[in-house]
Amino acid sequence: MSTQQQPQSIPLVDLATQSSRIKEEVLARIGRVIDKANYILGEEVAEFEAEFAGYCGVEHCVGVANGTDAIHMALRALNIGPGDEVITAANSFAATALAIAYSGAAPVLVDICEDDFNIDPDMIERAITDKTKAIIPVHLYGQPARMQEILEIAERHNLKVIEDSAQGHGGELNGTRCGAFGDIACFSFYPGKNLGAFGDAGACVTRDSELAEKLRLLRNYGQVVKNRHDLLGFNCRLDTVQACVLLTKMQFIEEWTEQRRQVAQWYREELADSDLLLPIEKSGARHVYHLFVIRHPERDLLMKFLAERKIFCGVHYPNPLPTAQPFALARTVPDNVPVCTQLSSEILSLPMYPEMTRRQVATVAAAVQEFSLETVRG
Ligand SMILES: *Cc1c(COP(=O)(O)O)cnc(C)c1O
Repeated sequence: MSTQQQPQSIPLVDLATQSSRIKEEVLARIGRVIDKANYILGEEVAEFEAEFAGYCGVEHCVGVANGTDAIHMALRALNIGPGDEVITAANSFAATALAIAYSGAAPVLVDICEDDFNIDPDMIERAITDKTKAIIPVHLYGQPARMQEILEIAERHNLKVIEDSAQGHGGELNGTRCGAFGDIACFSFYPGKNLGAFGDAGACVTRDSELAEKLRLLRNYGQVVKNRHDLLGFNCRLDTVQACVLLTKMQFIEEWTEQRRQVAQWYREELADSDLLLPIEKSGARHVYHLFVIRHPERDLLMKFLAERKIFCGVHYPNPLPTAQPFALARTVPDNVPVCTQLSSEILSLPMYPEMTRRQVATVAAAVQEFSLETVRG
């Protein structure tokens, strides 16, 4: 055997390690579902919903097919549709604005704050018209949005608040969990999210029992009892098999979140002497580091440099939402969202997953610093 170790590649995320740890338990649970044949809305779905509602600190959770559907169903439950405007952040995954468009409402894309990458409350205020019905803040990268200001604005203008918490599982601001701020909060359990299924899955959570009941109808053909349809429903239920995966993973979500926070702390220590802009952690916030996003003026060159050393990064997101064809006509506030546009060319998501070792973090940090030295030398 060679004593010369091949340099290991470092991926942006590593799902296989985590999955292998829970595989046996997941298979046992899925085996029981197969035996019972309760594939649709089986008791595991209700069991997971109860557990996840508790985790968020709210009364109700309604499992749905994915995070995009969760936002779409939330808008439907709140009777938001054609003629209405919904304000969201210009720097998000496209699904946030797509779901608004599915409802028939018009997305209004608002600029972000430079320090925390989240929607700017001052710009929300400027974006409000008499058509505005709701605000959808996104807890981007796992950092809670400025919920106190946002809830105050919503209250003053009589607007609904729907949290896009697809990246915010377990995040907190001043002791309140992401998911417990808005009228409804939406989660994705896409495999790469902080809590991920083995396929697509999502959920809405809410304190409001009437909204919860309406969401249960909306996800299941609007069916009150078999063959009685009182509203325009959809088919977007959470699969029982995916609920088995999520129930198993719920046992580890806090451990994995603390590991992410530890990895972030290691990055801070390893990069303390660099002049890089690291993500801030707002006071009173528990950032859950879905992504660890740094800024660099030569982002594309840095990304290439790292890839040559088998360190794989991502960009979330390279194109502001207003530049996407479906949103070409969307109103932007301020015009063309300058902060978001500037940051989209500088942001870089470094490898981040709970199982990352200090050694891997040090390897990434050393390569980043090596690049900075080379660019200084020219
Ligand atoms: C992943 C994600 C979504 C969409 O979730 P899916 O489960 O992929 O439909 C929506 N918003 C944000 C911010 C996301 O990161």
